[in-house]
Amino acid sequence: MSISPVTAPTEGQWVTEWAPLGKCAGSDPDALFVQGKAQRAAKIVCKGCPVVAECLADALDNRTEFGVWGGMTERERRALLRRRPDVRSWTALLSAAKARGAEGAIA
Ligand code: SF4
Repeated sequence: MSISPVTAPTEGQWVTEWAPLGKCAGSDPDALFVQGKAQRAAKIVCKGCPVVAECLADALDNRTEFGVWGGMTERERRALLRRRPDVRSWTALLSAAKARGAEGAIA
């Protein structure tokens, strides 16, 4: 059996198996599960991550409470969910935004 190599997504491509492509892959997972103000520092690792939208969508759709996901702290994700109760699927919203090259236009 052969294993496909993990390759970076092309521009605008949505990746379903995103975790191995994350910048944090292979690093200490506890580093992203710090608390309080330490999360602001921890989320720096997410800058430039090629799967930041996928990671964030997964956390938002699953209401993941703890840790840094998709470049957002727990508090930031809660605030976003409160601001956008109309969003049924963050995966649908963010994959469409990624395809348009508009990942930053979340809120
Ligand atoms: S966005 Fe952050 S937490 Fe998510 S995979 Fe990338 S580096 Fe890891």
